[in-house]
Amino acid sequence: MKKEIKTDYYDTFTCIADKCSFNCCQEWKIAVDDDTYIKWNRLSLTKHNNNYLDQYVKQKDGTRVVALNEQKQCPFLNEQKLCNLVLNFGDEFLSETCAIFPRQIHEFADRKEYSLVSCCPEVVDLMNQQDKICFTKNMFDMDEDILLQIRTMMITIMQNQHFSISKSVMMIFYILLDIHQNESVLKKEIDEYKDKAVLKELSDTIDNMQFLSLDTFEENNELFLDIAENYRKQELYTSYLEPIAVIAENLSRDYDKRKMIVQLQKFEKQFSSYEKLFRNYLVVEIFSNSLMPESDLESIVVMIQWIAMEYAIMRHSIFLSWLLDEQEKLSYTVVRNYIVVISRMMGYDQEDICQYLDKSFENLIWEWGYLALLIGA
Ligand code: SF4
Repeated sequence: MKKEIKTDYYDTFTCIADKCSFNCCQEWKIAVDDDTYIKWNRLSLTKHNNNYLDQYVKQKDGTRVVALNEQKQCPFLNEQKLCNLVLNFGDEFLSETCAIFPRQIHEFADRKEYSLVSCCPEVVDLMNQQDKICFTKNMFDMDEDILLQIRTMMITIMQNQHFSISKSVMMIFYILLDIHQNESVLKKEIDEYKDKAVLKELSDTIDNMQFLSLDTFEENNELFLDIAENYRKQELYTSYLEPIAVIAENLSRDYDKRKMIVQLQKFEKQFSSYEKLFRNYLVVEIFSNSLMPESDLESIVVMIQWIAMEYAIMRHSIFLSWLLDEQEKLSYTVVRNYIVVISRMMGYDQEDICQYLDKSFENLIWEWGYLALLIGA
């Protein structure tokens, strides 16, 4: 039997369905796999008509998906926010996406890995309740796989509270680039980066660098608008995106630099009260999305870039919402909502991510300085 690794709260997750504040059956691309499509071909929701379920399916971006209704909700969602498919036919008629969500399972040759994605508000609550993300199996015991060792090293750095979140991301990316430039990866090199003195030296070097918060702000603002563009055109997540996108557009034209520096500092203080949540979020992202069954070192580097970008855009969205509210205190509801929205917007598969990065940046693999600009001090 294969070894199993899970985040240790994995089995405690329960969908709260009709009580959910941000139901996954709305404003989303719900994929319909081949087997489900075949089952739906012969099934009608009511006994006396010929409205077979496959009528609710359409092609979008090359994938077969559920066609959302005018309210941008799944047509099978009833007024009590329950799924008519489950009520009428049972769980086995759900598409694979619906049956699994928000669980994510990766099957490797020697092991299966389980995690929960942050596109679900209940999962964010669970992450927020953990002092530290733990796993059901000690990954340090599994040192035969070199890519697994790299991931363990990244998680260890991300959980090291001596380093701020931003610094941890920068250190991880520096190490990855260093390893990536060699022809083959050796265990010896990874072990070097487990050494406290080596990590301290890297941390001190970053401390001695100068970071300009306005440059980071401008880059994040531009990236946020770029990522939001398609969703705004399709009028998805409108209530979350539109108000902050309007602010972002205004700021991209002009802003008072002195005032902005003060606001960024005030926000930073508020945002830091969610440090544990974001550290947990990043640990889970690294665990579930940096290393997949078909990964090589290059794809790990690419996915760390994407995770860093997702974090930067999340933080920026929360900043814009905080500006909009003109509130001193940053509420957990705002933080949770934007973790969910941005995770849903940026939850592409690896191929799409590579395409986006290829199209948007000069090189698929960034220079360290670009990631540092994005993340900021
Ligand atoms: S988002 Fe999560 S809690 Fe809400 S309905 Fe979907 S699975 Fe259930």
